[in-house]
Amino acid sequence: MRSDILGYTFWGRPILCLQGGDGPRRVLICAAHHGSEWITMLLLRRFWSEFCVRGDWRRAAHLWVVPCVNPDGCALSMGQVAPWSPQYLCARSIARREPDLPFPSGWKANGRGVDLNLNYPALWDQAVETKGLAGPAPRNWPGPCPFSEEETRLLAELTVLAEPDVMVTLHAQGEEIYWEFGGIPVAGAESLGRLMAERSGYRLTSVPPESAYAGYKDWFIQEFRRPGYTVECGLGENPLPVRETDQIYRAVRPILRTALLGC
Ligand SMILES: [Zn+2]
Repeated sequence: MRSDILGYTFWGRPILCLQGGDGPRRVLICAAHHGSEWITMLLLRRFWSEFCVRGDWRRAAHLWVVPCVNPDGCALSMGQVAPWSPQYLCARSIARREPDLPFPSGWKANGRGVDLNLNYPALWDQAVETKGLAGPAPRNWPGPCPFSEEETRLLAELTVLAEPDVMVTLHAQGEEIYWEFGGIPVAGAESLGRLMAERSGYRLTSVPPESAYAGYKDWFIQEFRRPGYTVECGLGENPLPVRETDQIYRAVRPILRTALLGC
């Protein structure tokens, strides 16, 4: 088991990667591309803790875990950024452009106001067109160009190094599993997705059109043509309450276990 710092965010927070296991199957799981979805970081940390003590799991796979892709956005949404800090004040002025979104709890973007799950080079132009935003925002701005952000570049570099057989990226909320991108055929993706759905009670479905571009799962499927899943954990309004972590984990655990073991 080892822990590495992949790099640092705009506000100087480390992005951690945990990895371990001796098995032949290569599995990468990440969480919290979106600040207000920080509960996914707690879910993934719990799965990692279980992986560390389960010999049968560790013999089945080598697992890479990035518990928090967006530490700045999560810290802001969780109320961990001091209200008198330049980071908070800058984010607050960006957030005024969307007054209906609670601040700071509803913040989804990274510290620069870029929606990280719209920043990957996978039909990125279509994301720009669909979202119609021209600058920093608390959500939905794809950035000035694909991979403009350190967080997305670091995760992509790790993915290229790890060459995972399967990838899962945790979001919230909706109790759904997305598995497709751009009609690209991926052997085994639908059947594995069906198993995840049966075991969790979540729905295996197509991505809503407004979220169908430039995400990490989209880029992963485009580049690797291997099974990659976005899992929308829990149900309700983000940020989901921390007291629901146990209950949500009961559904998410079998999804991650299925990805890990491949059956
Ligand atoms: Zn999300």
